[in-house]
Amino acid sequence: MSVPAASQPAAALSQAAPTPTPEQDVLIVGAGPAGLALACALADIGLSVTVLEQQDEARIAAPQPDGRDIALTHRARSVMQGLGLWQRLPEGEIAPIRAAHVSNANSPRFLRFDAEQANCEALGFLVPNHWLRKVAYEGAKARGAAVRLLCGATIRQASTAAERAEVVLDLPAAEGGRSELTLHAPLLVAADSRFSTTRRRLGIGANSRDFGRTVIVARFSHEREHDGTAHECFRLGNTLAILPMNHRQVSAVVTVKSSEAEAWMALSPEEFAGRVAEQFGYQLGTMQMVGERHAYPLVAVYAHRFATHRVALIGDAAVGMHPVTAHGYNFGLYGIEVLAQQLDRARRAGRDLGVTATLAPFELEHRRVTLPIYLGTNLVVGLFTDDRPPAKLVRQAVLAVSDHLPPVKDAITRQLTGQRPGWLPDLRKLLSALPALPGRPSAPR
Ligand SMILES: Cc1cc2nc3c(=O)[nH]c(=O)nc-3n(C[C@H](O)[C@H](O)[C@H](O)COP(=O)(O)OP(=O)(O)OC[C@H]3O[C@@H](n4cnc5c(N)ncnc54)[C@H](O)[C@@H]3O)c2cc1C
Repeated sequence: MSVPAASQPAAALSQAAPTPTPEQDVLIVGAGPAGLALACALADIGLSVTVLEQQDEARIAAPQPDGRDIALTHRARSVMQGLGLWQRLPEGEIAPIRAAHVSNANSPRFLRFDAEQANCEALGFLVPNHWLRKVAYEGAKARGAAVRLLCGATIRQASTAAERAEVVLDLPAAEGGRSELTLHAPLLVAADSRFSTTRRRLGIGANSRDFGRTVIVARFSHEREHDGTAHECFRLGNTLAILPMNHRQVSAVVTVKSSEAEAWMALSPEEFAGRVAEQFGYQLGTMQMVGERHAYPLVAVYAHRFATHRVALIGDAAVGMHPVTAHGYNFGLYGIEVLAQQLDRARRAGRDLGVTATLAPFELEHRRVTLPIYLGTNLVVGLFTDDRPPAKLVRQAVLAVSDHLPPVKDAITRQLTGQRPGWLPDLRKLLSALPALPGRPSAPR
Protein backbone atom coordinates (compact mmCIF):
# COMPACT_ATOMS: atom_id res chain seq x y z
CA MET A 1 0.00 0.00 0.00
CA SER A 2 1.30 3.47 -0.77
CA VAL A 3 0.96 6.35 1.63
CA PRO A 4 -0.77 9.58 0.58
CA ALA A 5 1.60 11.53 -1.62
CA ALA A 6 1.29 14.63 0.58
CA SER A 7 3.10 12.83 3.37
CA GLN A 8 6.06 11.86 1.21
CA PRO A 9 9.03 14.19 1.64
CA ALA A 10 10.23 13.68 -1.96
CA ALA A 11 6.93 14.85 -3.37
CA ALA A 12 6.03 17.46 -0.75
CA LEU A 13 6.09 21.16 -1.57
CA SER A 14 7.82 23.62 0.66
CA GLN A 15 5.23 24.63 3.25
CA ALA A 16 6.93 28.04 3.47
CA ALA A 17 5.95 28.93 -0.11
CA PRO A 18 2.96 31.28 -0.41
CA THR A 19 -0.18 29.50 -1.68
CA PRO A 20 -1.03 30.90 -5.13
CA THR A 21 -4.65 31.03 -6.24
CA PRO A 22 -5.29 27.93 -8.39
CA GLU A 23 -5.82 28.81 -12.03
CA GLN A 24 -8.16 25.84 -12.48
CA ASP A 25 -10.25 23.47 -10.40
CA VAL A 26 -8.69 20.32 -11.81
CA LEU A 27 -5.41 19.52 -13.58
CA ILE A 28 -5.45 16.39 -15.73
CA VAL A 29 -2.25 14.81 -17.06
CA GLY A 30 -2.93 12.95 -20.33
CA ALA A 31 -5.24 13.85 -23.22
CA GLY A 32 -6.08 10.27 -24.13
CA PRO A 33 -9.72 9.18 -24.42
CA ALA A 34 -10.03 8.97 -20.60
CA GLY A 35 -8.40 12.31 -19.75
CA LEU A 36 -10.40 14.20 -22.39
CA ALA A 37 -13.72 12.53 -21.56
CA LEU A 38 -13.15 13.41 -17.89
CA ALA A 39 -12.43 17.02 -18.90
CA CYS A 40 -15.82 17.07 -20.68
CA ALA A 41 -17.61 15.61 -17.65
CA LEU A 42 -16.02 18.13 -15.27
CA ALA A 43 -16.75 21.09 -17.55
CA ASP A 44 -20.39 19.96 -17.61
CA ILE A 45 -20.63 20.25 -13.82
CA GLY A 46 -19.19 23.75 -13.91
CA LEU A 47 -15.51 23.09 -13.14
CA SER A 48 -12.55 24.58 -14.99
CA VAL A 49 -9.99 22.09 -16.21
CA THR A 50 -6.48 22.18 -17.69
CA VAL A 51 -5.33 19.08 -19.57
CA LEU A 52 -1.59 18.54 -20.03
CA GLU A 53 -0.49 16.34 -22.93
CA GLN A 54 2.97 15.40 -24.10
CA GLN A 55 2.00 14.97 -27.77
CA ASP A 56 1.47 17.82 -30.24
CA GLU A 57 -2.08 19.09 -30.60
CA ALA A 58 -2.21 18.08 -34.29
CA ARG A 59 -1.81 14.41 -33.27
CA ILE A 60 -4.49 14.69 -30.60
CA ALA A 61 -6.90 16.53 -32.92
CA ALA A 62 -6.55 14.02 -35.77
CA PRO A 63 -5.49 10.70 -34.20
CA GLN A 64 -4.36 8.07 -36.66
CA PRO A 65 -5.80 4.52 -36.69
CA ASP A 66 -3.91 2.44 -34.12
CA GLY A 67 -5.47 -0.94 -34.95
CA ARG A 68 -7.55 -1.10 -31.75
CA ASP A 69 -11.26 -1.60 -32.17
CA ILE A 70 -12.83 -1.04 -28.79
CA ALA A 71 -15.81 -3.08 -27.57
CA LEU A 72 -18.03 -0.88 -25.42
CA THR A 73 -20.82 -1.96 -23.09
CA HIS A 74 -24.25 -0.37 -22.94
CA ARG A 75 -23.26 1.50 -19.77
CA ALA A 76 -20.16 2.92 -21.49
CA ARG A 77 -22.31 4.02 -24.40
CA SER A 78 -24.70 5.78 -22.07
CA VAL A 79 -21.81 7.60 -20.32
CA MET A 80 -20.58 8.75 -23.75
CA GLN A 81 -24.11 9.78 -24.71
CA GLY A 82 -24.41 11.82 -21.51
CA LEU A 83 -21.23 13.68 -22.49
CA GLY A 84 -22.45 14.19 -26.07
CA LEU A 85 -19.50 12.16 -27.40
CA TRP A 86 -21.41 9.18 -28.79
CA GLN A 87 -23.48 11.53 -30.97
CA ARG A 88 -20.25 12.75 -32.61
CA LEU A 89 -19.36 9.26 -33.90
CA PRO A 90 -20.26 8.66 -37.55
CA GLU A 91 -22.89 5.90 -37.66
CA GLY A 92 -20.69 3.82 -39.96
CA GLU A 93 -17.97 3.68 -37.28
CA ILE A 94 -20.24 1.95 -34.72
CA ALA A 95 -20.55 -1.81 -35.23
CA PRO A 96 -23.05 -3.73 -33.07
CA ILE A 97 -22.00 -7.11 -31.65
CA ARG A 98 -25.01 -9.39 -32.19
CA ALA A 99 -23.48 -12.58 -30.83
CA ALA A 100 -20.25 -13.85 -29.29
CA HIS A 101 -18.68 -17.31 -29.45
CA VAL A 102 -15.84 -18.52 -27.24
CA SER A 103 -14.09 -21.70 -28.37
CA ASN A 104 -11.21 -23.83 -27.16
CA ALA A 105 -8.49 -25.17 -29.52
CA ASN A 106 -10.04 -27.33 -32.20
CA SER A 107 -12.96 -28.48 -30.10
CA PRO A 108 -16.39 -28.16 -31.74
CA ARG A 109 -17.85 -27.02 -28.37
CA PHE A 110 -18.16 -23.33 -27.73
CA LEU A 111 -19.74 -20.91 -25.33
CA ARG A 112 -22.28 -18.63 -27.01
CA PHE A 113 -23.94 -15.37 -26.14
CA ASP A 114 -26.76 -13.93 -28.18
CA ALA A 115 -28.23 -10.43 -28.18
CA GLU A 116 -31.60 -11.65 -29.40
CA GLN A 117 -31.87 -14.14 -26.54
CA ALA A 118 -30.92 -11.36 -24.14
CA ASN A 119 -33.70 -9.22 -25.63
CA CYS A 120 -31.44 -6.41 -26.69
CA GLU A 121 -30.26 -4.86 -29.94
CA ALA A 122 -26.60 -5.78 -29.34
CA LEU A 123 -24.30 -7.31 -26.72
CA GLY A 124 -22.02 -4.31 -27.15
CA PHE A 125 -20.63 -1.91 -29.73
CA LEU A 126 -17.29 -1.80 -31.51
CA VAL A 127 -15.72 1.58 -32.26
CA PRO A 128 -12.20 2.25 -33.61
CA ASN A 129 -10.01 3.71 -30.87
CA HIS A 130 -8.88 6.67 -32.97
CA TRP A 131 -12.54 7.70 -33.29
CA LEU A 132 -12.97 7.54 -29.51
CA ARG A 133 -9.92 9.77 -29.16
CA LYS A 134 -11.15 12.14 -31.85
CA VAL A 135 -14.63 12.67 -30.40
CA ALA A 136 -13.17 13.13 -26.91
CA TYR A 137 -10.91 15.88 -28.30
CA GLU A 138 -13.78 17.52 -30.19
CA GLY A 139 -15.99 17.33 -27.10
CA ALA A 140 -13.29 18.97 -24.97
CA LYS A 141 -12.80 21.74 -27.54
CA ALA A 142 -16.56 22.31 -27.70
CA ARG A 143 -16.55 23.10 -23.94
CA GLY A 144 -14.72 26.37 -24.79
CA ALA A 145 -12.83 28.12 -21.99
CA ALA A 146 -13.87 25.53 -19.40
CA VAL A 147 -11.25 23.13 -20.83
CA ARG A 148 -7.74 24.40 -21.52
CA LEU A 149 -5.51 21.97 -23.41
CA LEU A 150 -1.74 22.42 -23.20
CA CYS A 151 -0.02 20.12 -25.70
CA GLY A 152 3.67 19.39 -26.24
CA ALA A 153 4.04 19.54 -22.45
CA THR A 154 6.93 17.90 -20.63
CA ILE A 155 6.06 17.38 -16.98
CA ARG A 156 9.10 18.11 -14.79
CA GLN A 157 7.48 17.64 -11.42
CA ALA A 158 4.14 16.71 -9.90
CA SER A 159 3.56 17.08 -6.18
CA THR A 160 0.96 17.75 -3.54
CA ALA A 161 0.70 19.81 -0.39
CA ALA A 162 -2.05 20.34 2.15
CA GLU A 163 -3.83 23.05 0.14
CA ARG A 164 -3.10 22.22 -3.49
CA ALA A 165 -1.44 20.05 -6.08
CA GLU A 166 1.34 21.49 -8.21
CA VAL A 167 2.71 20.57 -11.63
CA VAL A 168 5.88 22.05 -13.10
CA LEU A 169 6.11 21.63 -16.84
CA ASP A 170 7.69 23.10 -19.86
CA LEU A 171 5.98 23.94 -23.11
CA PRO A 172 7.00 25.05 -26.59
CA ALA A 173 7.34 28.86 -26.44
CA ALA A 174 5.77 31.11 -29.10
CA GLU A 175 9.19 32.57 -29.95
CA GLY A 176 10.77 29.11 -30.21
CA GLY A 177 12.52 27.08 -27.48
CA ARG A 178 10.66 26.07 -24.30
CA SER A 179 9.20 27.95 -21.39
CA GLU A 180 8.62 26.69 -17.87
CA LEU A 181 5.21 26.93 -16.24
CA THR A 182 3.96 26.06 -12.75
CA LEU A 183 0.27 25.22 -12.33
CA HIS A 184 -1.81 24.62 -9.21
CA ALA A 185 -5.21 23.11 -8.58
CA PRO A 186 -7.16 21.63 -5.69
CA LEU A 187 -7.10 18.30 -7.55
CA LEU A 188 -4.64 16.60 -9.89
CA VAL A 189 -5.81 13.65 -11.99
CA ALA A 190 -3.38 11.20 -13.61
CA ALA A 191 -4.73 9.91 -16.94
CA ASP A 192 -1.37 9.27 -18.55
CA SER A 193 -1.69 5.57 -19.49
CA ARG A 194 -1.00 2.33 -17.66
CA PHE A 195 2.70 3.26 -17.44
CA SER A 196 1.74 6.56 -15.76
CA THR A 197 4.78 8.55 -14.68
CA THR A 198 2.49 10.91 -12.76
CA ARG A 199 1.27 8.00 -10.64
CA ARG A 200 4.88 7.08 -9.87
CA ARG A 201 5.92 10.68 -9.19
CA LEU A 202 3.12 10.97 -6.65
CA GLY A 203 4.29 7.87 -4.86
CA ILE A 204 1.33 5.64 -5.76
CA GLY A 205 2.40 2.09 -6.46
CA ALA A 206 0.73 -0.42 -8.78
CA ASN A 207 0.62 -4.17 -9.23
CA SER A 208 1.53 -5.12 -12.73
CA ARG A 209 1.54 -8.40 -14.57
CA ASP A 210 3.53 -8.93 -17.73
CA PHE A 211 1.91 -11.82 -19.59
CA GLY A 212 4.93 -12.37 -21.84
CA ARG A 213 2.49 -12.10 -24.74
CA THR A 214 1.95 -9.50 -27.45
CA VAL A 215 -1.25 -8.79 -29.33
CA ILE A 216 -1.06 -8.03 -33.03
CA VAL A 217 -4.12 -6.25 -34.36
CA ALA A 218 -5.21 -5.58 -37.95
CA ARG A 219 -8.33 -5.10 -40.08
CA PHE A 220 -9.32 -7.62 -42.74
CA SER A 221 -11.86 -7.73 -45.53
CA HIS A 222 -13.30 -11.19 -46.16
CA GLU A 223 -15.46 -13.29 -48.47
CA ARG A 224 -18.38 -14.40 -46.27
CA GLU A 225 -20.73 -12.47 -43.97
CA HIS A 226 -19.76 -12.26 -40.30
CA ASP A 227 -23.36 -11.71 -39.11
CA GLY A 228 -22.18 -9.44 -36.32
CA THR A 229 -20.65 -12.37 -34.41
CA ALA A 230 -17.49 -11.88 -32.35
CA HIS A 231 -15.24 -14.90 -31.85
CA GLU A 232 -12.67 -15.61 -29.17
CA CYS A 233 -10.69 -18.73 -30.14
CA PHE A 234 -8.23 -20.11 -27.63
CA ARG A 235 -5.83 -22.06 -29.80
CA LEU A 236 -2.73 -24.08 -29.08
CA GLY A 237 0.12 -21.62 -28.62
CA ASN A 238 -1.81 -18.43 -29.42
CA THR A 239 -5.29 -16.96 -29.24
CA LEU A 240 -7.33 -15.29 -31.94
CA ALA A 241 -10.22 -12.85 -31.58
CA ILE A 242 -12.32 -11.89 -34.60
CA LEU A 243 -14.41 -8.75 -34.12
CA PRO A 244 -17.20 -7.92 -36.56
CA MET A 245 -16.83 -4.41 -37.99
CA ASN A 246 -18.90 -2.59 -40.60
CA HIS A 247 -18.14 -2.47 -44.34
CA ARG A 248 -17.66 -6.27 -44.49
CA GLN A 249 -14.54 -6.13 -42.39
CA VAL A 250 -13.34 -7.77 -39.20
CA SER A 251 -10.70 -6.74 -36.74
CA ALA A 252 -8.39 -9.65 -35.89
CA VAL A 253 -6.56 -9.72 -32.56
CA VAL A 254 -3.81 -12.34 -32.56
CA THR A 255 -2.11 -13.00 -29.23
CA VAL A 256 1.33 -14.57 -29.57
CA LYS A 257 4.32 -15.20 -27.30
CA SER A 258 6.30 -11.94 -27.19
CA SER A 259 9.37 -13.84 -28.38
CA GLU A 260 7.48 -14.67 -31.61
CA ALA A 261 5.89 -11.26 -32.18
CA GLU A 262 8.70 -9.93 -34.35
CA ALA A 263 8.41 -12.87 -36.73
CA TRP A 264 4.63 -12.37 -36.97
CA MET A 265 5.10 -8.66 -37.68
CA ALA A 266 7.66 -9.50 -40.39
CA LEU A 267 5.19 -11.66 -42.36
CA SER A 268 3.97 -10.12 -45.60
CA PRO A 269 0.35 -8.86 -45.46
CA GLU A 270 -0.67 -11.85 -47.62
CA GLU A 271 1.11 -14.38 -45.38
CA PHE A 272 -0.37 -12.77 -42.28
CA ALA A 273 -3.89 -12.78 -43.75
CA GLY A 274 -3.41 -16.40 -44.84
CA ARG A 275 -2.43 -17.43 -41.29
CA VAL A 276 -5.35 -15.63 -39.71
CA ALA A 277 -7.82 -17.14 -42.22
CA GLU A 278 -6.36 -20.61 -41.66
CA GLN A 279 -6.43 -20.29 -37.85
CA PHE A 280 -10.05 -19.20 -38.12
CA GLY A 281 -10.80 -22.33 -40.16
CA TYR A 282 -11.76 -20.24 -43.22
CA GLN A 283 -15.11 -19.47 -41.56
CA LEU A 284 -15.08 -16.12 -43.39
CA GLY A 285 -13.51 -17.55 -46.55
CA THR A 286 -10.31 -15.90 -47.74
CA MET A 287 -9.16 -12.71 -45.98
CA GLN A 288 -7.17 -9.65 -47.08
CA MET A 289 -5.40 -7.31 -44.71
CA VAL A 290 -6.60 -3.70 -44.84
CA GLY A 291 -4.26 -0.97 -43.54
CA GLU A 292 -1.47 -1.47 -41.03
CA ARG A 293 -0.69 -4.04 -38.35
CA HIS A 294 -0.01 -2.86 -34.78
CA ALA A 295 1.61 -4.74 -31.89
CA TYR A 296 0.92 -4.20 -28.17
CA PRO A 297 2.85 -6.03 -25.43
CA LEU A 298 0.39 -7.28 -22.82
CA VAL A 299 0.92 -5.83 -19.37
CA ALA A 300 -1.96 -5.49 -16.92
CA VAL A 301 -1.73 -2.85 -14.20
CA TYR A 302 -3.79 -2.20 -11.07
CA ALA A 303 -2.92 0.89 -9.01
CA HIS A 304 -2.67 0.48 -5.22
CA ARG A 305 -4.81 3.58 -4.75
CA PHE A 306 -7.21 5.37 -7.10
CA ALA A 307 -7.32 8.46 -4.91
CA THR A 308 -5.23 10.08 -2.20
CA HIS A 309 -5.14 13.63 -0.83
CA ARG A 310 -5.35 15.97 -3.90
CA VAL A 311 -4.90 13.12 -6.40
CA ALA A 312 -7.15 10.80 -8.41
CA LEU A 313 -6.29 8.22 -11.08
CA ILE A 314 -8.48 7.54 -14.07
CA GLY A 315 -8.41 5.35 -17.19
CA ASP A 316 -5.49 2.99 -17.68
CA ALA A 317 -3.48 4.91 -15.06
CA ALA A 318 -5.90 3.38 -12.52
CA VAL A 319 -6.66 0.02 -14.16
CA GLY A 320 -4.83 -1.23 -17.26
CA MET A 321 -6.66 -4.35 -18.37
CA HIS A 322 -5.64 -7.31 -20.54
CA PRO A 323 -7.84 -6.70 -23.62
CA VAL A 324 -9.31 -10.22 -23.77
CA THR A 325 -12.39 -9.26 -21.76
CA ALA A 326 -12.57 -5.81 -23.44
CA HIS A 327 -12.95 -3.73 -20.29
CA GLY A 328 -10.17 -1.11 -20.38
CA TYR A 329 -11.95 1.96 -21.73
CA ASN A 330 -15.28 0.78 -20.31
CA PHE A 331 -13.69 1.01 -16.86
CA GLY A 332 -12.27 4.39 -17.81
CA LEU A 333 -15.76 5.69 -18.57
CA TYR A 334 -17.30 4.14 -15.44
CA GLY A 335 -14.62 5.81 -13.31
CA ILE A 336 -15.24 9.16 -14.99
CA GLU A 337 -18.95 8.90 -14.27
CA VAL A 338 -18.42 8.19 -10.58
CA LEU A 339 -15.61 10.71 -10.05
CA ALA A 340 -17.58 13.49 -11.76
CA GLN A 341 -20.56 12.68 -9.59
CA GLN A 342 -18.53 12.95 -6.38
CA LEU A 343 -16.92 16.21 -7.49
CA ASP A 344 -20.33 17.61 -8.41
CA ARG A 345 -21.64 16.81 -4.94
CA ALA A 346 -18.59 18.44 -3.34
CA ARG A 347 -18.89 21.55 -5.51
CA ARG A 348 -22.60 21.96 -4.72
CA ALA A 349 -21.93 21.55 -1.00
CA GLY A 350 -19.01 24.01 -1.15
CA ARG A 351 -16.58 21.26 -0.11
CA ASP A 352 -12.92 20.98 -1.13
CA LEU A 353 -12.57 18.96 -4.36
CA GLY A 354 -9.24 17.38 -3.51
CA VAL A 355 -9.63 16.06 0.02
CA THR A 356 -9.85 12.38 0.79
CA ALA A 357 -13.43 12.67 2.09
CA THR A 358 -14.52 13.88 -1.36
CA LEU A 359 -12.56 11.26 -3.28
CA ALA A 360 -13.02 8.20 -1.05
CA PRO A 361 -16.42 7.16 -2.47
CA PHE A 362 -14.92 7.19 -5.97
CA GLU A 363 -12.03 5.02 -4.83
CA LEU A 364 -14.37 2.57 -3.12
CA GLU A 365 -16.85 2.28 -5.98
CA HIS A 366 -14.22 2.00 -8.71
CA ARG A 367 -12.43 -0.73 -6.80
CA ARG A 368 -15.70 -2.58 -6.19
CA VAL A 369 -16.50 -2.58 -9.91
CA THR A 370 -13.04 -3.24 -11.32
CA LEU A 371 -11.20 -5.55 -8.94
CA PRO A 372 -13.23 -8.75 -9.44
CA ILE A 373 -13.09 -8.36 -13.22
CA TYR A 374 -9.39 -7.49 -13.18
CA LEU A 375 -8.57 -10.59 -11.12
CA GLY A 376 -11.03 -12.76 -13.07
CA THR A 377 -9.59 -11.65 -16.42
CA ASN A 378 -6.04 -12.44 -15.31
CA LEU A 379 -7.21 -15.86 -14.11
CA VAL A 380 -8.93 -16.59 -17.44
CA VAL A 381 -5.86 -15.42 -19.38
CA GLY A 382 -3.64 -17.69 -17.27
CA LEU A 383 -5.93 -20.66 -17.85
CA PHE A 384 -6.45 -20.08 -21.56
CA THR A 385 -2.81 -19.43 -22.44
CA ASP A 386 -1.51 -22.46 -20.57
CA ASP A 387 -1.03 -25.26 -23.08
CA ARG A 388 -0.25 -28.01 -20.58
CA PRO A 389 -2.74 -30.90 -20.74
CA PRO A 390 -4.43 -30.30 -17.33
CA ALA A 391 -5.14 -26.65 -18.23
CA LYS A 392 -6.55 -27.71 -21.61
CA LEU A 393 -8.92 -30.10 -19.86
CA VAL A 394 -10.00 -27.51 -17.31
CA ARG A 395 -10.81 -24.89 -19.93
CA GLN A 396 -12.73 -27.38 -22.02
CA ALA A 397 -14.74 -28.18 -18.91
CA VAL A 398 -15.21 -24.47 -18.09
CA LEU A 399 -16.63 -23.77 -21.55
CA ALA A 400 -18.87 -26.83 -21.55
CA VAL A 401 -20.21 -26.17 -18.05
CA SER A 402 -20.67 -22.43 -18.63
CA ASP A 403 -22.59 -23.03 -21.84
CA HIS A 404 -25.02 -25.27 -19.96
CA LEU A 405 -25.38 -23.06 -16.90
CA PRO A 406 -27.83 -20.30 -17.75
CA PRO A 407 -26.98 -18.18 -14.64
CA VAL A 408 -23.32 -17.96 -15.68
CA LYS A 409 -24.14 -16.92 -19.24
CA ASP A 410 -26.86 -14.65 -17.97
CA ALA A 411 -24.48 -12.89 -15.58
CA ILE A 412 -21.90 -12.29 -18.35
CA THR A 413 -24.51 -11.09 -20.83
CA ARG A 414 -26.04 -8.71 -18.30
CA GLN A 415 -22.65 -7.39 -17.35
CA LEU A 416 -22.15 -6.44 -21.02
CA THR A 417 -25.60 -5.06 -21.63
CA GLY A 418 -26.02 -3.36 -18.27
CA GLN A 419 -29.21 -5.25 -17.42
CA ARG A 420 -29.64 -6.46 -13.88
CA PRO A 421 -30.60 -10.06 -13.11
CA GLY A 422 -34.31 -10.31 -12.37
CA TRP A 423 -33.73 -11.65 -8.84
CA LEU A 424 -31.42 -8.81 -7.81
CA PRO A 425 -32.82 -5.51 -6.46
CA ASP A 426 -31.59 -2.42 -8.28
CA LEU A 427 -28.72 -1.50 -5.95
CA ARG A 428 -28.05 1.73 -7.79
CA LYS A 429 -31.59 2.95 -7.17
CA LEU A 430 -31.44 1.84 -3.53
CA LEU A 431 -28.11 3.62 -3.02
CA SER A 432 -29.22 6.84 -4.67
CA ALA A 433 -32.24 6.94 -2.34
CA LEU A 434 -29.88 7.11 0.66
CA PRO A 435 -28.19 10.39 1.71
CA ALA A 436 -24.58 10.88 0.50
CA LEU A 437 -22.15 9.54 3.08
CA PRO A 438 -18.40 9.82 2.71
CA GLY A 439 -16.94 6.38 2.19
CA ARG A 440 -20.18 4.83 0.91
CA PRO A 441 -20.10 3.74 -2.74
CA SER A 442 -22.30 6.14 -4.61
CA ALA A 443 -24.84 5.37 -7.26
CA PRO A 444 -23.60 6.40 -10.69
CA ARG A 445 -25.67 9.13 -12.32
C1 LIG B 1 -5.19 -4.22 -28.48
C2 LIG B 1 -6.07 -3.54 -27.50
C3 LIG B 1 -7.43 -3.77 -27.53
C4 LIG B 1 -8.28 -3.14 -26.62
N1 LIG B 1 -9.61 -3.43 -26.67
C5 LIG B 1 -10.43 -2.85 -25.77
C6 LIG B 1 -11.81 -3.14 -25.79
O1 LIG B 1 -12.29 -3.91 -26.62
N2 LIG B 1 -12.63 -2.51 -24.88
C7 LIG B 1 -12.14 -1.63 -23.96
O2 LIG B 1 -12.92 -1.07 -23.18
N3 LIG B 1 -10.81 -1.34 -23.92
C8 LIG B 1 -9.95 -1.92 -24.79
N4 LIG B 1 -8.62 -1.62 -24.76
C9 LIG B 1 -8.13 -0.66 -23.75
C10 LIG B 1 -8.26 0.81 -24.18
O3 LIG B 1 -7.61 1.01 -25.41
C11 LIG B 1 -7.64 1.67 -23.10
O4 LIG B 1 -8.26 1.37 -21.86
C12 LIG B 1 -7.80 3.17 -23.34
O5 LIG B 1 -7.27 3.55 -24.57
C13 LIG B 1 -7.05 3.92 -22.23
O6 LIG B 1 -7.23 5.30 -22.39
P1 LIG B 1 -6.39 6.29 -21.47
O7 LIG B 1 -6.82 7.66 -21.87
O8 LIG B 1 -6.48 5.90 -20.05
O9 LIG B 1 -4.86 6.04 -21.85
P2 LIG B 1 -4.09 6.23 -23.22
O10 LIG B 1 -4.94 5.96 -24.39
O11 LIG B 1 -2.83 5.45 -23.05
O12 LIG B 1 -3.75 7.80 -23.25
C14 LIG B 1 -2.82 8.37 -22.35
C15 LIG B 1 -2.49 9.78 -22.84
O13 LIG B 1 -1.57 10.36 -21.91
C16 LIG B 1 -0.48 10.93 -22.60
N5 LIG B 1 0.68 10.89 -21.72
C17 LIG B 1 1.37 9.79 -21.32
N6 LIG B 1 2.37 10.16 -20.49
C18 LIG B 1 2.30 11.51 -20.37
C19 LIG B 1 3.06 12.47 -19.66
N7 LIG B 1 4.09 12.12 -18.89
N8 LIG B 1 2.73 13.77 -19.78
C20 LIG B 1 1.67 14.16 -20.54
N9 LIG B 1 0.92 13.29 -21.24
C21 LIG B 1 1.23 11.98 -21.14
C22 LIG B 1 -0.32 10.05 -23.85
O14 LIG B 1 0.36 10.74 -24.88
C23 LIG B 1 -1.77 9.78 -24.20
O15 LIG B 1 -2.32 10.79 -25.02
C24 LIG B 1 -7.74 -2.26 -25.65
C25 LIG B 1 -6.37 -2.02 -25.61
C26 LIG B 1 -5.53 -2.66 -26.51
C27 LIG B 1 -4.06 -2.40 -26.44
